[in-house]
Amino acid sequence: MSDFSHCIVQVALKIPFANTLDYQLSGEIPTDLIGRRVRVPLGKNKLLVGVIIDTKNNSDYKQLKTVDTILDEQPLLNKNNLLLINKSAKYYKVSLGEMLMTALPAWFKKVDNPAIPQEVWFKTNVDSEQARQQLKKAPKQWQVFDYIQQNGPQMPAALSHLSASASALCKQLTEKGLLQQSDRSFIDNKHIEQPDFILTADQQQVLNHIKNHNHHFNVSLLDGITGSGKTEVYIRSLLPLLERGQQALVLVPEIGLTPQLFQTFSKRIQGRLAVFHSGLSDGARARVWQQAGNGHVDVVVATRSGIFTPFKKLGIILVDEEHDLSYKQQDGVRYSARDLAVLRGQIEGIPVVLGSATPAFESLRHALNNHYYWLTLRSRTNQKALPKIQLQNLDSRKTHGGLTRQTLDAIEQQLDNGHQVLVFLNRRGWSPKLLCHDCGWIAECDDCDAYLTYHKHNDRLLCHHCRRNYRLPEFCPDCGSQEMDTLGVGTEQVETAIQQLIPDFPVIRFDRDSVATPRQWQQQLDRVRTGNPCVIVGTQMLAKGHDFPTLSLVVVVNVDNSFYSTDFRAEEYLAQLLIQVAGRAGRAETTGQVIIQTHQPKHDFFHTLLQQGYEQLARNGLKQRRDMQFPPFSHMAIIRAQHRFEDKLEAFLLELIDAIGQDPAVSVMGPLPAPMQKKQKLHRMQLILNANNRRGLHQLLKQLLKKHNPTQGPVRWFIDIDPVSFD
Ligand code: ADP
Ligand code: ZN
Ligand code: ZN
Repeated sequence: MSDFSHCIVQVALKIPFANTLDYQLSGEIPTDLIGRRVRVPLGKNKLLVGVIIDTKNNSDYKQLKTVDTILDEQPLLNKNNLLLINKSAKYYKVSLGEMLMTALPAWFKKVDNPAIPQEVWFKTNVDSEQARQQLKKAPKQWQVFDYIQQNGPQMPAALSHLSASASALCKQLTEKGLLQQSDRSFIDNKHIEQPDFILTADQQQVLNHIKNHNHHFNVSLLDGITGSGKTEVYIRSLLPLLERGQQALVLVPEIGLTPQLFQTFSKRIQGRLAVFHSGLSDGARARVWQQAGNGHVDVVVATRSGIFTPFKKLGIILVDEEHDLSYKQQDGVRYSARDLAVLRGQIEGIPVVLGSATPAFESLRHALNNHYYWLTLRSRTNQKALPKIQLQNLDSRKTHGGLTRQTLDAIEQQLDNGHQVLVFLNRRGWSPKLLCHDCGWIAECDDCDAYLTYHKHNDRLLCHHCRRNYRLPEFCPDCGSQEMDTLGVGTEQVETAIQQLIPDFPVIRFDRDSVATPRQWQQQLDRVRTGNPCVIVGTQMLAKGHDFPTLSLVVVVNVDNSFYSTDFRAEEYLAQLLIQVAGRAGRAETTGQVIIQTHQPKHDFFHTLLQQGYEQLARNGLKQRRDMQFPPFSHMAIIRAQHRFEDKLEAFLLELIDAIGQDPAVSVMGPLPAPMQKKQKLHRMQLILNANNRRGLHQLLKQLLKKHNPTQGPVRWFIDIDPVSFD
């Protein structure tokens, strides 16, 4: 169909000086222009990709340029998608073009508009048992099969962590009839397993609630302890929607967690399931967009950026581990995918389910004041007791590699009983500081306001913020003394100490130094998955999601930093982390055990969390925030700026304060140095805006942006709306 009357299009572009530009279209003009990408000229000889957001009959501008090419044969984004992106842009105070370019997968931003490549995928053709039998003598092939079975269809290129000849292995497996070539990244389930259990009364109640409210917008907070069967509730919430021809978007915080959920879903959901995350090729991500947009997949399991995926008929959004900070993008446009999920639910008129064992205080507040339905699961499906948490006082005790004698004994005992132990410590390297005994000098990075971490494996000092590394000084640069020593422990040191003191069992370390590639990750994981007794020393990397069935003890080396933090959310984050790592211990046959080492065992925090639980901790925390007028009882934004010269930076921020002006409803603090005052040679400062009313804050920021454009001018700055970190 064509129509010659609309020949001016309004195109959103990522350019610093405008939100949209008008262009004219010549030739035969399709009617459904809105939501299609176009290539348009800018200036003398530049071509840009933009998206048509409106059509009109005349423009305020004369001498319009002409659209070079319409890139899409049909709209890539529908009305609701554009609305979501438009509202996000307004909320996060960026231009529409910038928000669009954040939302679009890289493939769709290419000016030369290449066709999405036909990639060759392999999917399994038989069940695991049959393959296992057939591949008894071919362990490499089995590994590839098993991986695809667990993670869904793969391109050989994505299997390089398993084998350098993954492509050949896939071919061999295909010849044996165990794998099958596929042109799609999603699986299309024909056979599903029925669970061998019935829902608990709690699960049933929660599920009924979700099912009874699945025709309109509403938000449910699924607040369920670890092992309470939230996944089962997710699955059964989706089924009726899929049956009526709708689609589902499931968000997970990290790539690492997609396989697990994907695998569970793929066993139970009949339909077409796709994954979407940054580990996929650009082409694959573009294809998921197309398929979801055309209605060719039913469920998309995605990380943060998947929130913008277009759907033909979206019926529900689930957000797993909704409290997780990974949902907040920390560079470019700082959006929160969790918050956008709620906005999207509203736009589409569909239900949103936020699930967590440790809901964000923000979300709990919405539940407490009835903005969200509060659905709780407070018992474990297997009736097993939650792990026992025990505090270990670090005061005046001699430690070995950061561990007390008592902790070491407990570790040894679990190993002797045939169990695995996880030692959790969020600090890699040997030691976080190098110190002069005589004068107290501590080694710091020249370019950052940060101490250097000593790494023993290469005997270097490394800055964890800019990666610059240094040779160890022979003398103290301040006093010339040779009495230098390390202070504090990191994963390297913990590993070495345990290996020396408990030599009979392997120690397997997981941090960014020991597992730098997916292949190393897989190798370490395979060692743990044998189930043999071992000590796993790991950072944050291991805190989430991974279930190790024979793990019975979790040791948290030191948590005290959180008690000195200036972030008003530090205790919330600590509680979430502790419960998360504790959850790793619960799956073994025996009741799990958790040891938290601290100098402050009498701290109120522990008393509340251990005696009264997370919900009470959250209620107390919310009360404090109400008293202090902090989020969620206020609305916050941070203006972050950086520059080579501190005085210029400060002067600039003072100028911004002037431009912001006085508003009784908004308090402006600053210019304050950022917690890390200098990073990669740049000084960093911020203004913290705290307001008791959201509209007032946003109005003020909007006015500010009219006077100052962050993309122009001498100082780089941006606005972080609803910041989750002060650094
Ligand atoms: P959560 O996500 O809440 O931590 P999961 O969904 O992982 O919990 O459930 C824990 C385990 O309990 C899973 O192995 C799941 O298959 C099982 N499960 C779920 N519901 C039930 C039930 N009603 N009875 C028995 N087992 C269940
Ligand atoms: Zn010195
Ligand atoms: Zn540095």
